[in-house]
Amino acid sequence: MHEVIFLKPVFKEMIWGGTRLRDDFGYAIPGGKTGECWAVSAHKNGDCKILGGSFDGKHLSELWEKNRELFGGMKGDVFPLLIKIIDAKEDLSIQVHPDDAYAKEHENGSLGKTECWYILDCDADAKIVIGHHAKSKEELGQMIGQKRWNELIRVIPIKKGDFFQIMPGTVHAIKGGTLILETQQNSDITYRLYDYDRLQDGKPRELHLEKSIDVIRCPHGDVETERTRQQVGDAIKEHLVSCGYYSVDRIEVKGSADFTLADAFRIFSVVEGQGGIDGIKLKKGDHFLLPAGYGDYRLSGDMVLITSCAV
Ligand code: ZN
Repeated sequence: MHEVIFLKPVFKEMIWGGTRLRDDFGYAIPGGKTGECWAVSAHKNGDCKILGGSFDGKHLSELWEKNRELFGGMKGDVFPLLIKIIDAKEDLSIQVHPDDAYAKEHENGSLGKTECWYILDCDADAKIVIGHHAKSKEELGQMIGQKRWNELIRVIPIKKGDFFQIMPGTVHAIKGGTLILETQQNSDITYRLYDYDRLQDGKPRELHLEKSIDVIRCPHGDVETERTRQQVGDAIKEHLVSCGYYSVDRIEVKGSADFTLADAFRIFSVVEGQGGIDGIKLKKGDHFLLPAGYGDYRLSGDMVLITSCAV
């Protein structure tokens, strides 16, 4: 099908959220602590509607169920990916996700979560939590039991344009002053390990220490991602990561560039600038899908996109 399918984001208020989804992206956010924009999602906790075109007003989950041809007949009960923009004004809780096998057994058949982060913007001294310093499960249990958080948690500096792949079992947290585009498996299963002893409505948010200890990989190992760049017309296409769930690229267009859809379908998020696809206007904050069979397409203008396909 030769139609660009635009999506309408769903927003989530979070105790750590801010207003940059309005200030930087122009979205109509629901409040002063909007943490997440679920930009491309068919998850029951935030199912995006289609904006305009043949499927106007339908939910993405409906398209996945009833129009599987749009996704090249790809198999699976649920739409495989979830794309978010996260505005962390404050630190997010320190957390970990299970893999598919653990989630299936302990979370009613849900999928696990592998995710990756592209740093859209951050404060000059911004940091992020990835990994921990425990050498064994035993030491991990001790450090958690004794609340030795500063010793346990591995904090590293970040800058705009950095990219991180977060495998299940990896301790991680986005810290305040960071704007991220997240590409992840379609799952909402998070085990909270530590929440800085914060209160929400006068109470601490629930922690999941046992499940966290179950799934945290010891010792921690980073995933090295090799970024390769390719010139396509007036664009630079940079490959960020491929894993068992998704493949993610960054495309920077300065002029025009011709591509051919070679995947079952492809997701795009405009994260900087403006331009167009096949004569349809695009601006920062737009998210769209190219369905199976779309064929050739031309990106033009002065913009940066993050694009992904399900594997
Ligand atoms: Zn996460």
